[in-house]
Amino acid sequence: MTSKPARSIRVVTLYDDVMNVYADRGNEIALRVRAAEHGVNVEVTSVSLGDPLPAEADLVLIGGGQDREQRRIADELAARGPALRAWAEDDTAMLAVCGGFQLFGRWYRDASGTELPGAGVFDVTTLAPGPGAARCIGDILAAAQIEGVREVVGFENHGGRTYLGPGARPFARVEYGRGNNGEDGTEGAVFRNAIGTYLHGSLLPKNPALLDWLIAAALRHRYGAGTPEAHIDMLPAPYAERAHAASMAVARRRSPKFEPVVK
Ligand code: GLN
Repeated sequence: MTSKPARSIRVVTLYDDVMNVYADRGNEIALRVRAAEHGVNVEVTSVSLGDPLPAEADLVLIGGGQDREQRRIADELAARGPALRAWAEDDTAMLAVCGGFQLFGRWYRDASGTELPGAGVFDVTTLAPGPGAARCIGDILAAAQIEGVREVVGFENHGGRTYLGPGARPFARVEYGRGNNGEDGTEGAVFRNAIGTYLHGSLLPKNPALLDWLIAAALRHRYGAGTPEAHIDMLPAPYAERAHAASMAVARRRSPKFEPVVK
């Protein structure tokens, strides 16, 4: 047996003290555990209000937050937009959830009508239709549109409706639940190795294929595709697989099967 090379990925968490609804910080915990199983060290830099961004990152995580929390970070995050967009163009892996996803878009007009600027990593825009409109809430099951990842499962709870621009493609297609806007069947967005999604859960503890996808992308960013350091073995993830299967059953039982809205 050949010995595995020592390797590590540089992870940046953004505003995890502000943006952490539905325990989105669980994504970082799942990442640390799974990376260790693959023999990958994780070096985390936690960046919050007023902190500088490090020079480089292989993987960026940001969680969800309500409008109030989003207002606290929006201007600063938007100012970091060109740096984050440059990272995304350089194939840094990213996972932006819900309120974080909205602010990784171009702008978010919140429920009070205030327009918050976005970082522009994704060509998406989000509108909150106002206090009378129903929120998109419930278990969600969607077919991921990235290689090696099939169904993803999670929990969505958002007032904002997100629409994809020509420069964005959907992360997933909704099977049960509502997704970006409840109308077009899209869920989230993908730009190179950056993923935006409405799925909380926490998401990564019960979607092991997606977790491995992010780790593999981060390793490729650090070491280059095809290098021994960037290779990860197919490892079983028995607990996560069981959580995934149980969550799929829950979403099928409790959530409406997605029907596109015909206007
Ligand atoms: N404030 C946003 C909305 O309701 C995001 C909420 C969240 O992150 N759960 O649309």
